[in-house]
Formats: sequence, C-alpha cells, structure tokens
Amino acid sequence: MNNMGQRRSIPWAQPKLYGSEETFLIDALRSSWISGGPYIARLEQTVAERMEVNHAVAVSNGTTAIELALRCLGIGPGEEVIVPGFTFVAAANMVLSLGATPLYADVTPDTWLLDPQEIHRLATVRTKAVIPVHLYGNVADMDLIGAAAAEHGLTVVEDAAEAAFSQYRHAYAGTIGRLGTLSFHAAKTITTGEGGMVLTNDPALADTMRVLRDHGRRAGRRYWHDVVGYNYRLTNLQAAMGCGQLMNLGAILEERKRIHAFYRRLLTGVPGLDLQCFKPTVDPVLWAMTVRLNSNEDNDILRRQRDTVMKGMAEDGIETRPGFYALSLLPPYDCPDLPVASRLSASVLSLPTYVGLTDEDMHRIWGSLQSPQGSR
Ligand SMILES: *Cc1c(COP(=O)(O)O)cnc(C)c1O
Repeated sequence: MNNMGQRRSIPWAQPKLYGSEETFLIDALRSSWISGGPYIARLEQTVAERMEVNHAVAVSNGTTAIELALRCLGIGPGEEVIVPGFTFVAAANMVLSLGATPLYADVTPDTWLLDPQEIHRLATVRTKAVIPVHLYGNVADMDLIGAAAAEHGLTVVEDAAEAAFSQYRHAYAGTIGRLGTLSFHAAKTITTGEGGMVLTNDPALADTMRVLRDHGRRAGRRYWHDVVGYNYRLTNLQAAMGCGQLMNLGAILEERKRIHAFYRRLLTGVPGLDLQCFKPTVDPVLWAMTVRLNSNEDNDILRRQRDTVMKGMAEDGIETRPGFYALSLLPPYDCPDLPVASRLSASVLSLPTYVGLTDEDMHRIWGSLQSPQGSR
C-alpha cells in the first residue's frame, strides 16, 4: 500500500462549528458588548437547564473553574485536597496554587478513575475536599466517593472537563458533588475557544463565586469590594460562541455516541488491547477513545511499546496522544509512586475522537493500531 502518503491525515481532535457560533459571535461583536454582555447569562442559564442544576457560573477556563470552586470553599494553606494520580494536572495545580497540599490517590485498574478506597487511606483531619476527575468521558464511582467523603467530612468537587453531558445514575457529571467544573477549550465537547464553568446547587456558594470572579464586587455598588477577588470572567464573545454550540447539542451528543459505539465494536476483543471500562451506572458522552496495551511487561518496556505504536500510527497519518503521565513521574508534584497510575501512564494511548470522524477513519485507525510494528 503505497498510497498512504496521499491519505488525509487524521488529527487527534478538532472543533466542530455549525454556523450558529459565527452568527451569535458577530451579533455580540456588533452589539459592542465584547467583555460583559447578555450571552454570558444566556450560556449559564442554558447549561443549568440542560444539566438540571440550579447554578452555573461561567469563568475564563476550566482551570480557573477549579480554582474558583476551591476558593469559594475557603481552601488554603495547611489544608489538604485529595486528587487522583492519573489525571490532567489542572486539579493538582490549583490545589498547589492555593497553598494547600494535594494528597494523591491511585485510580482503579478498570475505570482508570479515582479509587474511592483511597479516600479512606489518605484522609486526615486537615483534609477538606476530594476532586474526582472524570477522564475521557467516563464518570468516577460517585456513590462510593460520596459515601467516603461524607464519612471523612470532605466536600466533593468534580472535575468534569472531559465528561460534559456524561451521566451517572441519570445525573449529569459535575452536578453530583457539591461543586463541579467544566472546560470549554477547543478540544472539549462544547467549546468557546477558552472558557469554563462551575456548577452547583448551593445558592450561597454560587453567590460567593460570582463575587470572587469579578474582583470581589457585588452588583449594585460601584467600586465597593467586600472581599479580595479575582478576574475569572468569561467574555460575551466567548459566551456567544458557547450559545451557538449549545444550539447544536443534540447533534454533538449523537455524533459522539455514534463514534463511541463504532470504536467499541471495532476494538472490543482485539488481542493485546484493553478498553477503559464504563460501568452500567454511567451513560457516557465519549470525550476521547482510549486503549491500554495489556502485557506483563514492566513499565519501561510497555512505555517503549506504546510509543512505538504511536510513532507507527503517526507515520500512517494518524495523530494519537499518550495517556497522562502519572503525577509521580512529573517533577513538580512530590507524588509517591502509585502502582495503577504509573502502569496506566506507561500503556494508555488515546485515539482521534471528534465530531466528523467517519466510520472509514475509524477503520483506518483500527488497522493502523493493529499492524505489526515489524512490517513498518
Ligand atoms: C481540559 C481540562 C482541564 C482544564 O481546562 P482548561 O479550560 O484548559 O483550563 C481540567 N481538567 C481536565 C481533566 C481537563 O481535561
């Protein structure tokens, strides 16, 4: 097959814009409301209604969403927050940026998400919160996490950046804990370029977050500041884009279901591959299709194998990404070795997943993933 070079290359992710984003964006631009403006409240209201949660607070990105959620709880120096050791780093970063101490939990080998038992192992009298991170569209075991958190007096803050519109027992990810966060980065399920949101059913926390996100001021009294605040605001332009995306939510969710189902059909039972396990309690909106190379090799060999597969796929014009590096491997985190997290981080890769990925694309990815390395 020598036509490989002529084949269209398949990116790992790509935003899908439907036209309504542009229409709303131009409307916002022409209105001259380019910082604050009416699209922000409209975006908040639309998300709150669709996710059946009382309050949605729009912010500048998914990372400031986590920071704001922790700030409205008053978390700071001397206090601890449990985060998973196999994750995107934002949650750990925000715990550290507040001067608090992250405690690193291992993940479960099947779901790859925070292991609820770890809460019992790690929690001390100084521990205030736990942040389950719902990776790749999956949702952590919120029943057991909620029970363990209650037992130790912890607040649950869900990082649902990768699980927008996934459900756990018919409740949306990010609305199950006391607080939950979303990201609207270009690679996420709903995008505003950069953007994020905090969800909560607690009116007092929502009110505090609205004050903190806007320099500590409350609507009504100009230049009066009750508390030290920040600027975590989303712009009206970004919110307009988000409102345009949400006009097409049905199509977006349907597409991701189709892609997930087709990938599962192709990849289930392929020798040497394990898929991330979605429990029957979870109705996922797939964010990224991920596979794990399963073998009894040690981590270094596994990582070399994984990187070889990725290189081979890149030569076939297919962009993939490695699983997150376990925080124990990353210099800034002072995270002890977590056996499951470090094994996953050596063996997971994620495959192209975006609205518009065709069945033919997925066939090509499946073929490339399986083609023996020696034949390249
Ligand atoms: C994308 C992401 C974030 C951060 O969102 P930004 O909008 O890029 O700041 C946080 N947590 C997880 C799990 C993510 O995937």
